[in-house]
Amino acid sequence: MTASRPLVAGNWKMNGLKAAAAEFGRMVEGYGPEMRKKVELAVCPPATLLYTLSVMAIGSRIAVGGQDCAVAAAGAHTGDLSAEMLADAGAAYVIVGHSERRTDHGESDGLVRAKAQAVLRAGLTPIVCIGETEAERRNNETLAIVERQLAGSLPDGVGPEDLVVAYEPVWAIGTGLTPSSDDIAEVHAHITGRLFARFGEPGERIRILYGGSVKPANAKEILGIPHVSGALVGGASLKAADFLSIAAAY
Ligand code: PEP
Repeated sequence: MTASRPLVAGNWKMNGLKAAAAEFGRMVEGYGPEMRKKVELAVCPPATLLYTLSVMAIGSRIAVGGQDCAVAAAGAHTGDLSAEMLADAGAAYVIVGHSERRTDHGESDGLVRAKAQAVLRAGLTPIVCIGETEAERRNNETLAIVERQLAGSLPDGVGPEDLVVAYEPVWAIGTGLTPSSDDIAEVHAHITGRLFARFGEPGERIRILYGGSVKPANAKEILGIPHVSGALVGGASLKAADFLSIAAAY
């Protein structure tokens, strides 16, 4: 049992100028009452579009979110955005610890944890990303890596309504490659077990998204795997037709 409905969240990364709002408008239109009952949708655009999309989302119940945040609430941090600012712009979710941030900006588990705490402080829900590299999978280190990232990146005292975990194998992001269903099932079961061990029964109900080359053609299979309670979608979240077709797998 998950905390609530499954969540399909789109990560637009550094894609989208003002014109992309029209694509979001098509998502709003397509997210009808039947789909709403079955699945929650969120879109995390670049911060420049967050407020615009949040205004468009009023009444549609598609949530919007940030892709990262600073640890501090305000102050002398040129170029950074706080979780409070993202909340002010209409965000409900903030992705933290995405592998592109871990790689491009050297973000450690400790920093990701501090960012997740900042998101909670602002009253928003962190989507905390973890996942192994290709070399780590080849060396059979996947479960150990995921366990270490989970232990280091999650704040204490969280429950199913507070936080979402996204398992995203780094080698599957943007490559068109995905693990086998058995491999995804194994990792998600392992994460569930660790969440239970740390947070007790409520931990077992924390939603665990799968991310990495989810598209309309593989959504049904992936979203049907035990302990997969949604998806974090990159490339296929840029087009309303693809994103809605993934959500329609529920
Ligand atoms: C992502 O960036 O989180 C992601 C899963 O990307 P893609 O779906 O394009 O692999």
